[in-house]
Amino acid sequence: MEGALTARDRVGIQDFVLLDSYTSESAFLDNLRKRFHENLIYTYIGTLLVSVNPYKELGIYTKKQMDIYMGVNFFELPPHIYALSDNAYRTMLMENNNHVILISGESGAGKTESSKKILQFYAVSCPRTSLLDNVRDRLLLSNPVLEAFGNAKTLKNDNSSRFGKYMDIQFDFQGEAVGGHILSYLLEKSRVVHQNHGERNFHIFYQLVEGAEDGLLRWLGLERNCQLYRYLVQGQCAKVSSISDKTDWRTVRKALSVIEISEADTEHLFGVIASVLHLGNIRFEADARGYATLNSSTEMHWLSKLLGVHVQVLREGLTHRKIEARAEEVLSPLTAEHAIYARDALAKAIYGRTFAWLVNKTNESLANKVRLSSDYTVIGLLDIYGFEVFHVNSFEQFCINYCNEKLQQLFIQLTLKSEQEEYEAEGIEWEAVPFFNNKIICDLVEEKHRGIISVLDEECLRPGEASDLTFLEKLEEKLGGHPHFVTHKLADQKTRKTLERGDFRLLHYAGEVTYCVVGKEHSSWQSKNSIVKHCFPSIEPDSKKRPETVATQFKSSLAGLTEILMSKEPWYVRCLKPNNSKQSGCFDDVLVRHQVKYLGLMEHLRVRRAGFAYRRRFEVFLQRYKALCPDTWPHWKGKPADGVQRLVIHLGYRPDEYKMGRTKIFIRHPRTLFATEDAFEM
Ligand code: ATP
Ligand code: MG
Repeated sequence: MEGALTARDRVGIQDFVLLDSYTSESAFLDNLRKRFHENLIYTYIGTLLVSVNPYKELGIYTKKQMDIYMGVNFFELPPHIYALSDNAYRTMLMENNNHVILISGESGAGKTESSKKILQFYAVSCPRTSLLDNVRDRLLLSNPVLEAFGNAKTLKNDNSSRFGKYMDIQFDFQGEAVGGHILSYLLEKSRVVHQNHGERNFHIFYQLVEGAEDGLLRWLGLERNCQLYRYLVQGQCAKVSSISDKTDWRTVRKALSVIEISEADTEHLFGVIASVLHLGNIRFEADARGYATLNSSTEMHWLSKLLGVHVQVLREGLTHRKIEARAEEVLSPLTAEHAIYARDALAKAIYGRTFAWLVNKTNESLANKVRLSSDYTVIGLLDIYGFEVFHVNSFEQFCINYCNEKLQQLFIQLTLKSEQEEYEAEGIEWEAVPFFNNKIICDLVEEKHRGIISVLDEECLRPGEASDLTFLEKLEEKLGGHPHFVTHKLADQKTRKTLERGDFRLLHYAGEVTYCVVGKEHSSWQSKNSIVKHCFPSIEPDSKKRPETVATQFKSSLAGLTEILMSKEPWYVRCLKPNNSKQSGCFDDVLVRHQVKYLGLMEHLRVRRAGFAYRRRFEVFLQRYKALCPDTWPHWKGKPADGVQRLVIHLGYRPDEYKMGRTKIFIRHPRTLFATEDAFEM
């Protein structure tokens, strides 16, 4: 009896906090599923936004929608990413402080799309003066550029981010976007030289080959056929039905000019991209002693031309290794097998440096040229690569999943742990909500002296003696007893699945992942390459310093990121993936339930439901609202707590709506505060 259903039965509830049986996972899922089938992909848990990827265009991101959400209180309209964006923005202006929107979820869940919607909202809706018109364009168009160079088709997602991105959008006191800054995290460089079946290299390569004008291709020595380039065809899917490389090429070209990358720099940029393709086609043969000889004069010619490096330097760099002996540099020949490894390492290094260069250039263009840095506040957007598990998982998946652990840890710290600790500290009666704390897994990876990264470092400092298998042995020795670590020796005891000899398994917060240690990255190798030095002299690292491994660099950059995030007021978007086949209209209960579980959404709901959505220090609350009560206006002379008490009684807050802590007032529901805000504006 369709007609007898109430609207609430049909479309569910827009804030989980209002769900009757809020502790039941099934009720939570029912609500999500109902809404999903009505194309309602957004639901709140208080001020946290849950988003389910619809895998289709919904028509909910129009200018008209933006106008509807601009300047309206959170709970007066159906949940939307614009509502969250608008609230972060208005709070920033009102309180003159910095905010960050943390977007998380596994690969393909919709993080990058969310971050683009947020940026578009700010670019379109914020006040503008003609003076800065192109700042917004640059902010928007930095996206297609970085996506072309940093995203790729994977088995999980046709446009998967292969780097982590944190972006600050800077606003002046009037709320106008005046600039931006991007930080990028560990690009998955191995993709440049190797792609698994069904995956592609970074988009830009295919865009260039498919879309570039004939003249440009000729100048680069390329032909319009992806099949000719070894680095493009390993996944055997150069063509993807959801992607138009030709159209995307035009977008990227236009975007490059908007972010003011000069014609000369653009030429150079494509020269480097083309040279990576030529490099991939270089072949080696073994001479009588097994040493590599080069047999690719055409490729060498183009490489030399495009990189501006003499053929002889290239030849040496590709077939020899420099070793230092008694303060002298000696060239030692490489075997054919090692030369292939060196060639690939060079391709990765060139691409990685080019990406870094591009991020720098983008930042120059986004730099706020009008105001001093003290004159603006920011909203940060964090969009990283999502948790992922493939058939074979290498060092890069290890870093990506570690990054997701850190982000989950931050979420736990901020929403579950410190929230509950604060109630205790403020003397608010509270029944603790238990939750799984993934700190134990973060420690397993990053702890000093005994974490996985530290073992990896030690092994990397013993070149020659160390191998992939000695690394595994060390891990076993140090971490054998850890509840989240499994090697092949222990596999049968902890999980039923056995492991190959060269593998270890981590029980991540989001699921089990088996990592293959063969061929782990050694950063020191790359920095010694003479060709890279030639091409990128200015960003060559200081060679006197002891080289850090990639993992250690990543660990410190994540620590830096955590600090940036902790210093701002957080907002959360939790993205869920409805199915594994990138299909619209299909809601896989088991899959969604798993994500709801590991993202800690039920625990978050319990804390939110039992707790208080808003809290303000007595002084701040009083300062803001004192005008609403004759007793507190213009000055309250007594204790701030007493003033606040007087104020809320005057405002008619019901006793169950708020609690007085030791230093702060806690307000159960945002509605209460919004009503006060409205009274204030009248
Ligand atoms: P990764 O971790 O791999 O980078 P991600 O979470 O960033 O994954 P997205 O690239 O944002 O995932 O989303 C994957 C695809 O899902 C998009 O290319 C798009 O086709 C679809 N999608 C995501 N969000 C939406 C949305 N709000 N509306 C319509 N389609 C969406
Ligand atoms: Mg992404």
